[in-house]
Amino acid sequence: MSRVFNFSAGPATLPEEVLRQAAEEMVDWHGSGQSVMEMSHRGKEFMGIAAAAEADLRELMGIPANYKVLFLQGGASLQFEMIPINLLRGKGTADYVHTGEWAKKAIKAARIFGNVNVVASAEDKAFTYAPAQAGWKLDKNAAYVHYTANETIGGVEFQWTPETGDVPLVCDMSSNILSRAIDVSKYGLIYAGAQKNIGPAGLTIVIVRDDLVGKAQPTPPPMLDYKTHVDAESMYNTPPTYSIYIAGLVFQWLKKNGGVAAMERKNVEKSKLLYDYLGTTDFYRNPVNPADRSRMNVPFTLKDAALDEAFLKGAKERGMTQLKGHRSVGGMRASIYNAMPVAGVKALVDYMREFEKSHG
Ligand code: PMP
Repeated sequence: MSRVFNFSAGPATLPEEVLRQAAEEMVDWHGSGQSVMEMSHRGKEFMGIAAAAEADLRELMGIPANYKVLFLQGGASLQFEMIPINLLRGKGTADYVHTGEWAKKAIKAARIFGNVNVVASAEDKAFTYAPAQAGWKLDKNAAYVHYTANETIGGVEFQWTPETGDVPLVCDMSSNILSRAIDVSKYGLIYAGAQKNIGPAGLTIVIVRDDLVGKAQPTPPPMLDYKTHVDAESMYNTPPTYSIYIAGLVFQWLKKNGGVAAMERKNVEKSKLLYDYLGTTDFYRNPVNPADRSRMNVPFTLKDAALDEAFLKGAKERGMTQLKGHRSVGGMRASIYNAMPVAGVKALVDYMREFEKSHG
């Protein structure tokens, strides 16, 4: 059996080791006579799996004790709504940084619940850069400041953490969580769908500072209130048990492989391989400001879009899949999350070079 190099933006490639372990444990988890999927979420086996996953995530990200970790459902998209519902706290206005497709969706959702102040926007240059903080028009009375750490479609990533003083910083880390070291204490809330850097779809991680919980005005319906999930330790209703289990295996894999620091080094190496090559040719083009280029999602176009189909076909023949760019931008996109090996990126660059030679 041979696996492809899967460059999908999400759901995305997972570590082969994790998949093999899950396969081995599928029918009979640790002698329990059942698969994880069949366990009661309130039984001691699954409670142990969930507790270990949370402890490992806390260790990997250095999450301080005054932060709650929630394992929720509904994707990052539900968080676009839960964040204003819970964090506006009667203040009526929140600051958002507009960096592209995902920021736009977060802004649109927040506008249902309050006033959104777009403090900076990269729209003037087709969302190809991360606006420097010096130009942000922050409101001291805002309930929070929201930004998108990595624009999965545009391939724009913040290489720095904004400073917002006493105003809580809220971040969509869906596509770069655990890919680089961050200081969690600088944030009020971090959220991420699991299906890129963590595990299967269906699980959403929320890391929230405890003083921000339980202050929603008006009090939301229970499922939409962080307090419900904090009080019930993410077991208010049936959690996505199998996704939590796989996420837990990924966390163990991360720990075994040097943790976030080692992943960051590998991600720098992988993205550099691609960007360095892109810098040597005008056959392919990445439009993003070099200082703001994503280490996770590398969009690029071919000189002639008529070659796209041939490029994708050749890639597939060489065992490289899911390189087609997002429908809104066209071209190609290579998503190279933690689980993408260096060998996958080398194979891609070799192929790009070869393709350029034969079609340039
Ligand atoms: N934010 C970002 C940065 C994303 O990449 C995505 C999904 N691609 C989302 C939010 C939406 O996530 P979900 O599909 O989990 O709701």
